[in-house]
Amino acid sequence: NPTPPRRPIRELPDELISQIAAGEVVERPASVVRELVDNALDSGASQITVRLVAGGVRLISVEDDGCGILPDELPIALKRHATSKIGNLTDLESVATMGFRGEALAAINSIADCALLSRATGQNHAYLLEGQTGELKPVARALGTTVEVKELFFSTPARRKFLKTDATEQAHCVEAVRRHALARPDVGFAIWADGKLVEQWRRCGERNSLPALEQRLADVLGSEFVERSVWVDFSTSAAPGRPDYAPVIKVWGRAGIPDAARARSDLQFCYVNGRFVRDKVITHAGRSAYEDVLHGQRQPVYALYVELDPTRVDVNVHPTKIEVRFRDSREVHQAVRHAVEAALAAPRAGQTPPAPQ
Ligand code: ADP
Ligand code: MG
Repeated sequence: NPTPPRRPIRELPDELISQIAAGEVVERPASVVRELVDNALDSGASQITVRLVAGGVRLISVEDDGCGILPDELPIALKRHATSKIGNLTDLESVATMGFRGEALAAINSIADCALLSRATGQNHAYLLEGQTGELKPVARALGTTVEVKELFFSTPARRKFLKTDATEQAHCVEAVRRHALARPDVGFAIWADGKLVEQWRRCGERNSLPALEQRLADVLGSEFVERSVWVDFSTSAAPGRPDYAPVIKVWGRAGIPDAARARSDLQFCYVNGRFVRDKVITHAGRSAYEDVLHGQRQPVYALYVELDPTRVDVNVHPTKIEVRFRDSREVHQAVRHAVEAALAAPRAGQTPPAPQ
């Protein structure tokens, strides 16, 4: 084989670096929706409105009533590796926000026509930043932020070709919001598509209130899901004097009765510290909890929320953060399995949310 010609090593331009990063983070319009709703939640929003045109390909707009972005920080927000969420390694190891990589807005801005419109707490004016031109001008807006993403993949036609029909892309966008909505009953969500309201989930109560979660589960997954499932509510107990030896893991949510199982695994929602994840450990634990009651290929349905000390789970494993790594996956597996088994063993007791302590 002839040796390939030696070519010079060059540093890539910023724009191209962001476009490469965008390839990992933004697969389709729903990925943009996920990132923007993450940001809205991190900003402390209590109402989030998502607008889509043509399945999100023409336009994705996410509007929130959160803390906003100061005018001189708007251009920084679009830069690569610029974030207000972590400042050092210790922050990274115990991250409590959805975002921390400071990558999403820069990546999205490199493959679409972006605009940021924000009025920060304490500011009399809102400002609009056009991503393409960098132009900043005052505009009218209530407190909060709107991010507009137009013509996704206009500069990367190869990616654009992989998109499915507008209807399919829209369905994926709605699914992305639904995953967030199931984790945050304390936040109201609305989704508009091509000028029509397609979903609306009203704020149900406080963040960690079980009645609020019950309401949100019914609103998002339907009353049938709630009627045909039982409450899961379990925590491991810390060993006295050795808090680090047996850290507390909480598992709650609803697990479907065996009869509610389906052919597909599309009604399995797992959250770790409020983040939607696809996790082999939790899925396997969920599956094993049904071992004795579910036969054949049928898939259980559930919405399970796992909470543990953030230093015991690494969320910086995957660019989209959909995968996590547990420091001790065995203890998580046991907790989830036990939580679901116990709930299934006492189905009647699990019909209503446990009384608040
Ligand atoms: P990350 O979320 O990882 O910090 P992003 O690129 O998604 O990175 O956002 C960059 C920064 O822009 C955030 O850290 C935050 O300070 C600011 N920001 C983005 N969206 C919003 C929003 N909706 N409200 C307030 N600030 C925001
Ligand atoms: Mg973000």
